[in-house]
Parts: sequence; structure tokens; C-alpha cells
Amino acid sequence: MNVYFDNAATTSVSETALNAMLPCLKENYGNASSLHALGQEANRVLDEARQTVASLIGANPSELYFTSGGSEADNWIITQMAYQGRRKGKTHLISTAFEHHAVLHTLKKLEKEGFEVTLLPVHEDGLVRPEELDAAITDKTALVTIMYANNEIGTIQPITELAAISHKHGVFFHTDAVQAVGHLPIDVKAQGIDALSLSGHKFHGVKGTGALYCRKGVLLGNLIEGGAQERGKRAGTENIPGIVAMAAALQEACDNMEENAARVTAMRDKLIAGVLQIPNSRLNGDPVKRLPGNASFCFEGVEGESLLLRLDLAGVCASSGSACTSGSLDPSHVLLAIGLPTEVAHGSLRLTLDEVNTEEEVDYVLEKLPGIVRTLRNMSPVWEDMIEAGTAQAY
Ligand SMILES: *Cc1c(COP(=O)(O)O)cnc(C)c1O
Repeated sequence: MNVYFDNAATTSVSETALNAMLPCLKENYGNASSLHALGQEANRVLDEARQTVASLIGANPSELYFTSGGSEADNWIITQMAYQGRRKGKTHLISTAFEHHAVLHTLKKLEKEGFEVTLLPVHEDGLVRPEELDAAITDKTALVTIMYANNEIGTIQPITELAAISHKHGVFFHTDAVQAVGHLPIDVKAQGIDALSLSGHKFHGVKGTGALYCRKGVLLGNLIEGGAQERGKRAGTENIPGIVAMAAALQEACDNMEENAARVTAMRDKLIAGVLQIPNSRLNGDPVKRLPGNASFCFEGVEGESLLLRLDLAGVCASSGSACTSGSLDPSHVLLAIGLPTEVAHGSLRLTLDEVNTEEEVDYVLEKLPGIVRTLRNMSPVWEDMIEAGTAQAY
């Protein structure tokens, strides 16, 4: 059996998205800036896609800028709001310790340019404390950027409350909502979100597509100079097939959101209950305030990378949820941020499901995983030490 439980990394392209983009590749291949009929047809579908994506997050089409993905949207808004703040003498930026690297590395770059960055703690449950944001904001703060839902442990932040606190102090609020859009209901106006990043390939669109929402009235600096695309702020001929696929995928995800979430949550909870039967295992992040499809675990006495390889041999695509590449022994910054000791963080496993998965796949993973963990433990000197120290029992 082949099981894809790595939907937080990327998703398959849905039939709906594929069928929507094919005409833009075959017959309707015009450049939206051309004045002839083919160009105008391209311009029409581009407008339509902008209307669709904007309305599905509660924004106006004129507030939406198409990008190459979530990383680009994050880089763009964070850098621009920082520079804008500096012109008014505001050089302090606030975020959290467990953001995506598209945010953290942008903040690192800005720190080198003289900005001061505060990373709020996310505590053992993987949640920001609103009062800690309140206390961290100063009269120098230019921007608060906090992710909607975490890509490794799935925890969902109290975004509406965090935006309200930022506004109380007159500070701009951005959220990296890449893991949330298409999976959780979002209304940027009702929630007071000033800017939001999204990515098409996390909800069955295609890779290399995304968008930045930025509230009207904010002077957003240009990202790419050139033509008049994206109101002159992000030049370059639009990726119309990708944009159309993203809009179609998001429409489908939002149309079916409630039933998808219910079914995926039920599968996730069955998976979590089954996996936690394994001795010396733990669920990472709040058990309830988490994405419908996210199940993140740590197994003591196991190396996450070996676990992945064994699962792969059994036909299961998963992730260690760690930034660990071969040759690097650094555990995930997310798992360290929720206070896990390095040796525990090394034994991490992220299983991310979505609506294309089935209960049979959950059963299959529950059949294979315990044996794999046990085999690896029986080969592990760390596990042996734990038995000797009495923190684990042989089984
Ligand atoms: C995937 C992801 C990104 C990056 O999006 P791309 O479209 O791949 O650039 C950013 N933030 C989060 C939370 C993500 O999960």
C-alpha cells in the first residue's frame, strides 16, 4: 500500500485544479497585457481568479497580489513593513520562535540591517500567549507577524485576538496563513488581519503559486520592477495557468471545508489514539487547537530519520518535521521552541493527512508503525540506556 501522509509539505493537484488550468495552457495561452482577443481572455480569467481568491478570504480583489508562493509573500510584506516602519523611526519587529523559515530568515536579514527582533515563546502547547504579545509591543514596534497555524505541529494561534492587541497599539498585523487557507475558515476583515500570505500547493493547487493580501490604504512598496502587472508592484507576466488552478482549488476546498474538516479530524484522532499506544511516545502541540490533518509525534530512543526511511520502505510518505538534513544533527527549531529536549526532538515524526486520505490508510500506518519503532529501539544504544536508567521498559 502507498500512503501519502505529508500534506503539510505539499499536496497533489486536484482534478478540479488541473481541469481549470488546462485551457490556459492549450487554447487560452494569451498574455494578459496584450490588447488582442486572446490577451483579453487571459486578462478576464485572471480577474476572475483574483475575485475568487479574494472573496474566499474576505478581501477585495484590489487587495490581492499574486506571488510565486508563500515564501515570496512573507518576504515581501515583512521587508516592506520593516522599511516603512524605519522611515518613522520604528525599528522593532515581533514574531514567534517557531515560524516558517521564510519568516525567520527574513527577520534574520533585517536584524543584520539594524532592526531589533523579538521572538515570542510558544510554550509547551505550541500557542502564543496574547498577554505576552501585549507586553512585548513598544512604541518602536513596526510589525507583528505571527503564523496562523504551524506547519510542523499544527497548532492554531488566536489570530483575531493577536490582531486586536496589535491594533490597540497601532501596530500592523501580518499572518503567514499558508497552512490555514483552504483548511480553516478565514475572513481577513472580520478578523482584523492587515496582511496575509497564502500558497496554492498546500490546498491542491500547483507549486509556484501564492498570494499576498494587503489591506487597502497600506502603502506597499514594489517587489519587482518592470511591467504594470499586479498594479505595478510585482512585475512579470502572470502565471495564469497556476493562478487559475489555485483559484479553482481554493474554491473547492472552501466549498467542502466543513465536511472535509470533520472527516479529516476523525481520521487524525484515530491515528493519534493508535500511535500513542506506543510506549514512550508523545503528541506535540495542543491536542485540540490544531489543524484537522496534523499529527506530530516524538518517540524516545528513536532517530527520526531512520523512522522515515523504514516508513518509506513500507510505502508511507511522512516527514520528521525537522529541519534536519543528512549531515546536520540540528533538531527542529519548532520542537525546541515548545521546550522539547534535543534528544527527544530527534525522534520526531509528522504525519499530515487531508481529504484525499482514507481510513484504510490510517489503519495501514497503525499496523506498520509500532513494529518499526520497536525494531529501531531494539537496535538503539540510547533506548538500552533508558531501560538501564529505568525511564523505559523493554518490550
Ligand atoms: C509551505 C509553507 C510556506 C512556503 O510556501 P511556498 O509556497 O512553498 O513558498 C510558508 N509558510 C508556511 C507555514 C508553510 O507551510
